[in-house]
Amino acid sequence: MRFYLATSFIFPRSLRMRLFTLCFVTTHLPLISYCIWGLATGRMELADFVLLTLATLIGTIGALVGIGALLNPIHALAESLNARDAMPASPGAGAALPPAMDVIQSLYAGVHRAAVSVGTQIQTLQVAANEDPLTGLLNRRGFLEAAGPVLAEGGRGCVVMLDIDYFKSVNDTLGHDEGDRVLSALAGVLSRQTRRVDLVGRWGGEEFIVFLPGCLEEEASRIMARIAHLLRVAPVGEVNGRTITFSAGISQCPDGRIDAAILRADEALYSAKELGRDCVVCHTAIGGRSLAV
Ligand code: GH3
Ligand code: MG
Ligand code: MG
Repeated sequence: MRFYLATSFIFPRSLRMRLFTLCFVTTHLPLISYCIWGLATGRMELADFVLLTLATLIGTIGALVGIGALLNPIHALAESLNARDAMPASPGAGAALPPAMDVIQSLYAGVHRAAVSVGTQIQTLQVAANEDPLTGLLNRRGFLEAAGPVLAEGGRGCVVMLDIDYFKSVNDTLGHDEGDRVLSALAGVLSRQTRRVDLVGRWGGEEFIVFLPGCLEEEASRIMARIAHLLRVAPVGEVNGRTITFSAGISQCPDGRIDAAILRADEALYSAKELGRDCVVCHTAIGGRSLAV
């Protein structure tokens, strides 16, 4: 790099010309040395001089052609990396480089742009892989991935499985678009009515999942009761004259195993449906106490 920088004053915009210049000088060194020696000693022979000049000429032409050919793939690579529509322009890509670039700087800028662009695309894909496109909530994968570290750090909490009641009739009566709107609206309510530390996800279809770190079942059921009350005061929709409600099952996650807690919350949700819907059931209460809201 030091030599590259030190010689960059020679044709600063063209590495090819810089290499040509260096080759020209170095291939002529034997001839120049011979001339100096010959003039100093007076022992210069015409035949030697002609031979050396011819050899220098052939050597120079060979070096120039070789260098030119060797640089072609690098030029092609730099051009394709920097082609305007080869990749989306990324903010700050190659910003540290001056506008006048030789092929090495152009290659550096191109690789930098490519790396930034790939990084941005990976980030976008990661978000897309973990997010539900309709509601913007975490999807099943994103939820489990986000809950994992909380539980791994010894965090405790409650899992809530929540399912919209008679949702099929929303689609059947009001259409699929209205169904989608209701899903998004309920997702918004759940996000706004929970804390920053809580995780809210769409488990699938019209089922949502919430993880409330640090909450006991009682607290979790109070939170859900508050949300259910809010939906009665400010409904997310109505179908056949009936306000849209949800049923929920809650389970504590004391052993740090979210999969077991999800299964238990699902069982509690099933009980809530059996009880007639529009209610919240804690897993510990199955078969006994249920908390109707
Ligand atoms: P229950 O009270 O027992 O939960 O009854 P339900 O009608 O809510 O449940 P069911 O499982 O019979 O119907 C769920 C419906 O949710 C069926 C499916 O078409 C609809 N659904 C699933 N995903 C989507 C979606 O992304 N958008 C819309 N609009 N509907 C969806
Ligand atoms: Mg349902
Ligand atoms: Mg369902």
